[in-house]
Amino acid sequence: LAKAQGKNTFEYYTAQLAQRAAEHFSLEGDLVRAAGQGELRLVYQPKFRLADGSMSGMEALLRWQHPQRGLLMPDMFIGLAEESGQIVPIGRWVLQAACRQIREWRRHGIEVPPCAINLSMRQFAAATLIDDVLGTLAEHGLGAEALELEITESVLMHDPDRGGRMLHRLREAGVRIAIDDFGTGYSSLAYLKRFPAHTLKIDRSFIRGLPQGREDTAITRGVIAMAHSLDMRVVAEGVESPEQLALLYHHGCDEAQGFLLGRPAPPGPLPPNVAVGAHVAAVFDELRREHD
Ligand code: C2E
Ligand code: MG
Ligand code: MG
Ligand code: MG
Repeated sequence: LAKAQGKNTFEYYTAQLAQRAAEHFSLEGDLVRAAGQGELRLVYQPKFRLADGSMSGMEALLRWQHPQRGLLMPDMFIGLAEESGQIVPIGRWVLQAACRQIREWRRHGIEVPPCAINLSMRQFAAATLIDDVLGTLAEHGLGAEALELEITESVLMHDPDRGGRMLHRLREAGVRIAIDDFGTGYSSLAYLKRFPAHTLKIDRSFIRGLPQGREDTAITRGVIAMAHSLDMRVVAEGVESPEQLALLYHHGCDEAQGFLLGRPAPPGPLPPNVAVGAHVAAVFDELRREHD
């Protein structure tokens, strides 16, 4: 009996593995067509200034509306796209789609703060990145200030010399740069001065521990102080509670982004802050009442 069971278990696992492998390959095949068939979407999440509650910018985040599997989050397919190289054309689609959307909002006479897009390793490594970015902006009649590029510390640290040079060139072209998920890579503080970014985004994993966690609080305070001394702005990502927001405010963090203030949402006729405006105003009123 045990033997039979063992065999069944083995067959079960083999079948499961085979299924997972098949899923992997079919997703990879599907991905090649996804952009062409209009299955990719961008959702937009606003960011707010802690000083006055105004919207400072937004971030475009990728979704894949798969015809059979439904809505897929980036964690399901970005890694795959990175491995296969599909991320490069997908990244171009993201750039195009974000610029089209910014132009669309502006066409209605709406002031739109900078929109950030995320770059992964291969995109950042592509020789054509700077031309792609500047070319797409020009194609849509947008200035460089319309966009911000989010690049993780680990992508920059992969080849720090090249990373530093690329950031200098992008910055000279007027494109804003944010270092994403800060604190999770091999952040050598010595390197930070060679990465001329405007903004540091403190990773969600540190914000999650606020306000109770002593280490997370210490790290958050340290990052804010260090970024300010290097003339960078600090954004806290993944802010979910008023207590987290209050701690960040107290320690002089510049901006916040997270479910407390606004979830990523499909673009409407108005930019993302309008949809959440009254809610955000109430959150900031409360913050000031508690603090001042
Ligand atoms: P990220 O750039 O660090 O983006 C922040 C992620 O945190 C997003 O997840 C966002 O929905 C989520 N988030 C925001 N506020 C909160 C919060 O308060 N609580 C929690 N629990 N989560 C929050 P998402 O959209 O699933 O994206 C995951 C990652 O996928 C992104 O992390 C980014 O690295 C990557 N990604 C997304 N879009 C693109 C893209 O267009 N191109 C590339 N290369 N990567 C992308
Ligand atoms: Mg990001
Ligand atoms: Mg991040
Ligand atoms: Mg992240």
